[in-house]
Amino acid sequence: MIKKPVYLDYHSTTPVDPQVLKLMIKYFTEDYGNPGSRTHEYGIRAEQAVEKARGEISKYINAQSSKEIIFLSGATEANNLVLFGIATKFGAEGKNHIITSSIEHKSILDTTEELKKRGMTVTYLNPNNEGLINLDELERSITPKTCLISIMHANNEIGVLNPIEEIGRIAQKNTIFFHCDASQSLGKVAIDVQKAGISLLSLSAHKIYGPKGIGALYVRQKNPRVVLNPIIYGGGQERGLRSGTLAAPLIVAFGEAVKMACTSMNKETEKLRKLRDYFLAGLRKHHKDLLVNGTMASRLPNNLNISFRGIDSEALMLLLREDLALSNGSACTSTTWKSSYVLEAMGYDEERCKGALRLSVGRYTSKEEIDFAIERIAKTVSRLRELSPIQKSLSLVR
Ligand code: PMP
Repeated sequence: MIKKPVYLDYHSTTPVDPQVLKLMIKYFTEDYGNPGSRTHEYGIRAEQAVEKARGEISKYINAQSSKEIIFLSGATEANNLVLFGIATKFGAEGKNHIITSSIEHKSILDTTEELKKRGMTVTYLNPNNEGLINLDELERSITPKTCLISIMHANNEIGVLNPIEEIGRIAQKNTIFFHCDASQSLGKVAIDVQKAGISLLSLSAHKIYGPKGIGALYVRQKNPRVVLNPIIYGGGQERGLRSGTLAAPLIVAFGEAVKMACTSMNKETEKLRKLRDYFLAGLRKHHKDLLVNGTMASRLPNNLNISFRGIDSEALMLLLREDLALSNGSACTSTTWKSSYVLEAMGYDEERCKGALRLSVGRYTSKEEIDFAIERIAKTVSRLRELSPIQKSLSLVR
């Protein structure tokens, strides 16, 4: 029996894994101490659990020390801390230039727009029509005033993976800090902050079957040490970079979720890739004219982003609402009903952007669910084309 609507929006968020939830509950109800309370057992036990989680996360990204992991509320906060923290530290010294890309998450783009109002200059690199940035252009954009390169690992709409090791090499060669938003890639693609020369790395728990409201920022301590200002002041927790009582239950859960995702990564990604490819092949059988947005050659194993010519994805999603949980872009911007800024930046025409559908499979997706989704999407696209006389004639021409 399929549970409807079938969830195909794992890029937006994931359910909490039962094993993760079980562990987390203990730190709400039994070991509920404040990890900062060193005067009693409750606090000490919570602190030990937090440090264990810190260790797990630092191990999987190959950090040199677990002290390089700063816990905070999620990747949005991590990205804000990086941008404001670096800009306030270096902007005043005249190093006021940041390089990023035009298809970053809004937590980067809206923050850099705010920083521009505060005297920073920002270069936005545009991707090519496959969703990849041009590394020569990145190198050419560097000036003596550049203090930060901030480029995401996997894009949240098209799942395209940037060549972070090459970006890291360019950053290191020019002695510039490299920040990478790895919210979507953690647990799906190996991340090694040493190999990729990463100075700062944003992570989020709720994309990998952990709870919402917890994330981490890796801040390199050596070769070279990253210095940045905090954006929240108070008790001085997290090396002074993120004051506030540590959310021990969420942190413990995050550690467990990372451990689970990273230890079973090869097996899980293999399963996801197969399901995703089966999904695409199934849809193509019915609608040969479907367009895949972004390259398939360098992409998250669980992502599909497709457009059906002449079909408005809003209409498609409305008709499918009872059966399928879908998205046409990032959930964070879906209240604005605009077509995707990511696809627009890739140079796609309006029809293709308006028709984009983001499909993501995950740990609990079954083949039966994909068969059901293929049938529902294919039929609904045909129905919409039948309803629209213009579409009907267009599909005859094609
Ligand atoms: N960056 C990317 C690439 C994302 O996909 C998301 C989540 N949509 C975020 C940042 C924000 O993460 P969080 O929900 O943890 O604030």
